[in-house]
Amino acid sequence: METNHHFDIIVVGSGAAGLSFINYINEQSDFNKDDITIALFSKKEFSATNTNWAQGGIAAVYSAIDSKENHVQDTLIAGSNMNNQTIVSKVVDEAPNIIEDLINWGMIFDRDSNDDFKLTLEGGHSNARILHNKDETGKLIQVSLENKMKKNSKLSKYEHCQLIDAVKDSNGIFNLIFLDEQNRLSYFSASILVIATGGLGALYSKSTNQNTSTGDGIYFAKKLGAKIQDLAYIQFHPTGLYSQHETAYLVTEALRGQGAVLKNLNNISFMEKYDARGSLAPRDIVSRAIFNEMKINQSAYVYLDGTSLKHELWIEHFPNLFKECIKIGIDPRNEFIPVIPVQHYSCGGVYTDEFGETTLSGLYALGEVACTGLHGANRLASNSLLEAFAFAKFAAQKIISQFEKKEPALNAIIPNSIRLKSLNKLALQKIMTAAAGIERNDSSMKKSIEELKELVEKATPCEKIKKEDIEKNIMYDVGIDILIDALNKKENKGVHYNTSLLK
Ligand SMILES: Cc1cc2nc3c(=O)[nH]c(=O)nc-3n(C[C@H](O)[C@H](O)[C@H](O)COP(=O)(O)OP(=O)(O)OC[C@H]3O[C@@H](n4cnc5c(N)ncnc54)[C@H](O)[C@@H]3O)c2cc1C
Repeated sequence: METNHHFDIIVVGSGAAGLSFINYINEQSDFNKDDITIALFSKKEFSATNTNWAQGGIAAVYSAIDSKENHVQDTLIAGSNMNNQTIVSKVVDEAPNIIEDLINWGMIFDRDSNDDFKLTLEGGHSNARILHNKDETGKLIQVSLENKMKKNSKLSKYEHCQLIDAVKDSNGIFNLIFLDEQNRLSYFSASILVIATGGLGALYSKSTNQNTSTGDGIYFAKKLGAKIQDLAYIQFHPTGLYSQHETAYLVTEALRGQGAVLKNLNNISFMEKYDARGSLAPRDIVSRAIFNEMKINQSAYVYLDGTSLKHELWIEHFPNLFKECIKIGIDPRNEFIPVIPVQHYSCGGVYTDEFGETTLSGLYALGEVACTGLHGANRLASNSLLEAFAFAKFAAQKIISQFEKKEPALNAIIPNSIRLKSLNKLALQKIMTAAAGIERNDSSMKKSIEELKELVEKATPCEKIKKEDIEKNIMYDVGIDILIDALNKKENKGVHYNTSLLK
């Protein structure tokens, strides 16, 4: 057991949000970097993030026929106007600066022969505005950010160190417990806590997320007393590669942007029946349409037909997807790709202001864990990396402008509220997928809340503190909160589709 280490800022999460926040803090000109102490933590190795897996890219306006107004409008339409318009404009305005920052940090985006960015089109966008590097944008972003972070000798770095408990004391200091790979507990405290823990895909049977995406940030922010908002808005990606695995490989929307078409098992293109924008309608509409076609045809998947794409595009633009298809015995140049909608993104989360600060002073939530108002009831494709960077920047600016040293109290409160039950992850995933999936209804949600509560009540206490058990306990808690929020929503907006509200 280590003694208590105090830092001015503790950042939990090493994806786009956490790492760029650290860069932005270091780039603030009006403060002496040596004055401020920062520590970074991640559950597994620093590179095990959803950021690393992002394929499509980042949305920003660069084309002469596009405009920021268009980007704002597309974001609002996708979000069913449940977005915060001020936030949408603020983030869209910042997008080109974010791209410049990323390039300065070493990121390379694909360019054409005139040295202009190659821009792709994705669902819900009225113009091509996705900057990317082939289909591995996230991997290259992660590498650029990590390279910069590793050179930062002042930063204290803790990999394989999972946040397992948090309390805030009366002096405003966050007291935290982490669990390392050898199951050892460490105690840390921070004047400012930045939660950048990503999403919650592991609560579902099939998700594009890392299996470490268990909603931890939402759980701890709620425990600390911060407001949580719109957990019901869970986005399903229409095209996960159909397989038996829990983690579904994402078949990027950019493929449909290049002309690939969704077809049912009878080889009939069906999207026109559901929306004038066809295969490139926003994700909620495409996911529901696929779900419906699967029901009508009693099929386990639908097809994505990319056979009309030029063969060289597969190698130039989608090399990784091509490899994944070949791995499961499908040559996408000549054969249709089997796809199903899978959990992909949490639009809701920890409520923040326009600087990423939560309702609890000193607690910041950045990236997917946050509910900033940008996405409303449905995230527009490629707006989430943008959000992670934009709020990391806004938060760093606010923190530095108000920074003052705080000392930890000598008699710091040690969190000791860990009470673990031995819970079944598969049972939770099955319940969440059935009750809080693409289509919901009141009776199944009510029944599922009771079932989850009962499973927790009946479960036996765990004898030891183990990483997996901490995760499962968090997942049950967050799962119940998702269902309660979904049940409380009285309107179908964006990704929330409750058939009981149709009557
Ligand atoms: C397959 C895939 C493709 C995507 N494609 C795109 C795209 O093209 N464009 C786009 O804009 N968005 C895309 N997204 C969404 C986007 O990638 C994510 O929303 C974004 O990367 C989230 O970044 P983050 O920093 O918030 O979290 P992440 O990158 O997921 O990082 C989370 C971090 O938190 C750490 N963590 C979690 N809990 C704890 C804990 N208890 N203790 C310590 N550490 C913890 C993890 O270890 C990790 O380091 C995609 C997502 C996926 C899964």
